[in-house]
Amino acid sequence: MVQAVVGANWGDEGKGKVTDLLAEQSDVVVRFQGGANAGHTIINSYGRFSLHLLPSGVFHQNVVNVIGPGVALNIEALEKELKALEEQKVPRPQLLISDRCQVLMPYHVDFDKFEEERLGKQSFGSTKSGIAPFYSDKFAKIGIQVCELYDEDFLRERLAIALVKKNVLLEHLYHKPPIDLEEMVRTMMEMGERIRPMVCDTSRYLQEADRAGKTILLEGQLGTLRDPDHGIYPYTTSSSPLAGYGCVGAGIAPTSLKKIFAVTKAYSSAVGAGPFVSEIFGDAAKELRDRGGDRGEYGATTGRPRSVGWFDCVATRYGVMLQGATEVVLTNLDVLGYLDEIPVCVAYETEDGQEITDFPATPVLMHCKPVVKTLPGWKSDIRGIKNYADLPANCKAYVDFLEKVAGVPIHMVSNGPRREDILYR
Ligand code: GDP
Repeated sequence: MVQAVVGANWGDEGKGKVTDLLAEQSDVVVRFQGGANAGHTIINSYGRFSLHLLPSGVFHQNVVNVIGPGVALNIEALEKELKALEEQKVPRPQLLISDRCQVLMPYHVDFDKFEEERLGKQSFGSTKSGIAPFYSDKFAKIGIQVCELYDEDFLRERLAIALVKKNVLLEHLYHKPPIDLEEMVRTMMEMGERIRPMVCDTSRYLQEADRAGKTILLEGQLGTLRDPDHGIYPYTTSSSPLAGYGCVGAGIAPTSLKKIFAVTKAYSSAVGAGPFVSEIFGDAAKELRDRGGDRGEYGATTGRPRSVGWFDCVATRYGVMLQGATEVVLTNLDVLGYLDEIPVCVAYETEDGQEITDFPATPVLMHCKPVVKTLPGWKSDIRGIKNYADLPANCKAYVDFLEKVAGVPIHMVSNGPRREDILYR
């Protein structure tokens, strides 16, 4: 049986914690898209971790973790993460890397930086980890697959084609020194050797695991609104964070996907550029930002302060729908305990004064204003509560309201950052 944990919003919804939790009952955890450009925060008995490329099943020794062909594999970043686990005494995880996965090359990171510099104020808020140049090359068919690192002549031939273009851009657009072909061949072959024991045909492995009745968990990065087709283009990421894409990026049959958990926070947060209708500013924002997450709302990869706002019914309903969620997991509910009244964005007002509840495309979205309704707060700390029934009545009413908005059940509610802070409804 295959299930997916994905983000309903802009990312950072708390998917890492939910995956870590669900991994306990899973045999395999798979990353199917994205790369080291975002991070999952996980807090468990080993400590506090920021995972970027590693699947969130790495803390469970019985779980096989898979990096699927849809991922942007930065080999050095992966090695760094494995080392961080070792340093914090986590036993070496079981990890498989797809031989068809493409390698995020050192020059992808450089091109990302150079392009953001060139765009200046018009930049898209890239994390500068090479993701956009990587996926551009993949679809332009000048990307390098992991399997190519083990065939020197083939690798040289493919790299030579790619580097002609790269070097023209480096010299004439960015005014930087060119890349040396032979040096790049050597570097990449060395990296290939280091990961060789983990490389295999993961799609075949997953298909067999599925047929054998194993539980496979697909782990998404970012969220619906960063999807290049359905999100707030061009302020999106370069690969699809949708559960539907999970089957493609992992290499399993779409008919095997039975459960889709869309994760959302009890308020909104976003890192990176783009329209964010329910965003709040000033002291109210500072207070929510400092109280949010486990150490305030600051990016797990970049440390950038996240923009914060009230729960956005329009964006979340859309996000849940596009994910095809079978249920919603609500996180960070404890964070709102300080408010007398809880504002919620229930609709958008467009530039020409219309009230809408369907999430619009970017040019309209850019000019939308939030229509806010307030719900009564519960004014207490709900961390440490173990049974859903013991939550304050207003808190349960808030969850009921969000469930109605989402249109699918909320069975799991998270009331703190640690693995054990979870309530079953
Ligand atoms: P992901 O990328 O979706 O895994 O999300 P991140 O890890 O980037 O951000 C989620 C943040 O919320 C992290 O700081 C988590 O430790 C934190 N978190 C997750 N669930 C809860 C919760 O229920 N309450 C609180 N206070 N923090 C939580």
